[in-house]
Amino acid sequence: MQTFSGIAASPGIAMGRLRIIDRSKTAVSEYTITLEAVCHEIGRLAQAIEDTRVELESLKSRLAETNGEDHLFFIETHLMILADKRLVSETSEIIKTSMINAEGALRRTLHRYRETFARIADPYLRERISDVETVVEKVLRSMNGEAVEPLPNQDCQIIIAAHDFSPADMLQINRNNVLAIITEIGGRTSHTAILARALELPAVMGVEGITGFLLDGVSVIVDGLSGTVIVDPDQETFQTLLYRKQHYEYVEYELLKTAPLPAITLDGHSINLRGNVEIAEEGTSVLEHGGSGVGLYRTEMLFMNRVLMPDEEEQLLAYRTMQQAIAPHPLTIRTLDAGGDKLLEGRDQIAEVNPALGVRAIRLSLSIPDEFKKQLRAILRVSADGPVRIMFPMISGMEELRRAKALLKEAKHELIASGTPFDSKVQVGVMIEIPAAVTLADLLAREVDFFSVGTNDLIQYTLAIDRSNEQLSQMYQPLHPAVLRSLRRVVQAAHGAGIPACLCGEMAGDPLYLPVLLGLGFDELSMSAGAILRVKQILRRCTLERAARIAEGCFDFSTAAEVEMYLKAQITMDVAESID
Ligand code: PEP
Ligand code: MG
Repeated sequence: MQTFSGIAASPGIAMGRLRIIDRSKTAVSEYTITLEAVCHEIGRLAQAIEDTRVELESLKSRLAETNGEDHLFFIETHLMILADKRLVSETSEIIKTSMINAEGALRRTLHRYRETFARIADPYLRERISDVETVVEKVLRSMNGEAVEPLPNQDCQIIIAAHDFSPADMLQINRNNVLAIITEIGGRTSHTAILARALELPAVMGVEGITGFLLDGVSVIVDGLSGTVIVDPDQETFQTLLYRKQHYEYVEYELLKTAPLPAITLDGHSINLRGNVEIAEEGTSVLEHGGSGVGLYRTEMLFMNRVLMPDEEEQLLAYRTMQQAIAPHPLTIRTLDAGGDKLLEGRDQIAEVNPALGVRAIRLSLSIPDEFKKQLRAILRVSADGPVRIMFPMISGMEELRRAKALLKEAKHELIASGTPFDSKVQVGVMIEIPAAVTLADLLAREVDFFSVGTNDLIQYTLAIDRSNEQLSQMYQPLHPAVLRSLRRVVQAAHGAGIPACLCGEMAGDPLYLPVLLGLGFDELSMSAGAILRVKQILRRCTLERAARIAEGCFDFSTAAEVEMYLKAQITMDVAESID
C-alpha cells in the first residue's frame, strides 16, 4: 500500500481501477544541429504548430456537435496560446542561437515561461501555466507524429490518472464510467478542478510523479476530501475509506432530500439562500442543492485567458444559459471583477506593483467604457427573459457608482434605440467589499436596490491581510470585531434605506457563522452550491430571536478568538438543550 498526497480539488471518495491516460510529457531529447539545419528545424516548429491548430479546430467542432458550445473557450484559450507569436519567435531564436533541435528549444521556451509564471503573485494567473504546458505538449506530440487523441475508450468504470488533464479532456469523459480524476499538475483554481466540482467528480490534483509510479489496472482510492490517493489499499484501510465514503454519501443524500424545504427559521423568518456560480453547470447544481437562484455570477471566467474580450453576443449566450438553468429564480450577474493584468494582455498594459489595490473590477470597467457597455447590454438583454440583477464589484464611493450607473443608462438607451427588449426595472446593486463603502453605506444605499457584502475582500482590505497569502491565514479572521462592526453597519444602512442586505463571500457558506449573519439581519446569503444544504439545515434549527441575541453577544468581546469561543459555546449549549 502506498499513499500519495495532493490538493483536494473536488470533494468525494471513489474506489476503482486506475487507467493512466498518457497526456504526460512527451519524451524529448535535445541535440545540437548544424547551421544548415536551422531553417529546417524552424520549419518543423511552424508545421507542428499549424498541425496542432488544425487538430484543435477539429476537436472544437467535434465537441460542439456532441457537447454543445459551452466551455469551448477552454479550447479557444489553447488556440490563442498557439497563435501567440512569441512562442514561435522565442523558440526560433533559441534554435538559432543555441543551435539545437526544435523539440529541445520548445522545452527551453516552456522552462522560461514557467519561471515567469512562478513570479506571478495571483494564484489563479500563476496556475495558467498549465494551459501553456498543455499546448506545448500538444505541439511536441505533433512533432513526434502523434495526434491530439480523443480519450481512450471508457467502457468500464475507471479512475483516470494523467500528468495533466485539460478541460477539453474533461468534456470528453463518460460521466457514467469515470469515477475520479488524479493529475500531477494543476490546483484548486484550475479550470479542470472547477469543472470537476461542477460535475461532482472527486479529484485530487498536484500528485507529483504519480503516473510514473503506477501501472494500469492497479486498485486505487481517491479521497477528494482530504486530497490523498491510496494505491493498493490493505483491507483495513479499504474498510475505513469505504465507511468514510458511505458516510459522506449518506450525509449528502440525506441532505439532498432537504433541498425542497424552505429556508425558514423555527420562528417563521425566511431568508434567501442562493448560489455562487462561475460556469453554466453550476446553475443546475444550485437548484438541486435547494438554492433559490444565484446571488453571485462571477463573469470573470468568460474573460480570462484570452487576448480578445468576449463580444456582446458571446456574453449574451453565456448569461442566457445560466438564466435558463435557474429560471424562474433570480440571477445576480456581477460585472467583470478582474485586475488589468488579467485582461489587457496584448494591450501594452503596464504590470501593476500591487494588483489588489490596482486597476481592478469596476475601475477596470470604467476605464474601458465601450467594453463595459457591451457587458451591460448583454446583461440587460437577458433581463428580458427573467429576473436578473446587476451588481457592480469593488465600489469605493459615490462617484464610481454614479459613473457606472451613467454607463448603464447609456446602455439602456442604446437598446431602446435599436428596439431591443430588456427589463426597464432591472435591479442594480453594489458589492460592499472596500472599507470606504462600509463607511459610506448610508449614502450608497440611497442609490441602489441592494447591497451584497463580499467578505472575502472586505476582510482582506479591513485587516490589511492578503487573502491569498497562506502565511497570514491565521490572521484572516471573519469574526474580527472590526469585521463584525462593519457587517452590522452595512445591514443597518441597507435596512435604513429599505433595501435588502445580502452577503456572498465565503463566510456565507460556513454554518458556524450562520447564527451571527442571521442575527445581524442579512436577508440573503449566497455561497457555493455544495454549502447551501448544510447552512439551510442550521437555519431551520434556529430562531431569529435567539440568533439576534447571539449576534448581539458577539459585540461584548474584543478579539476574534474570544468571539469564536463564545459562538461555539452558544452552539454547544443549543445542541445540549435540543437533546434534553
Ligand atoms: C468577495 O470578495 O467576498 C466576493 C464574493 O468576491 P470575490 O471572491 O470574487 O472577490
Ligand atoms: Mg471580491
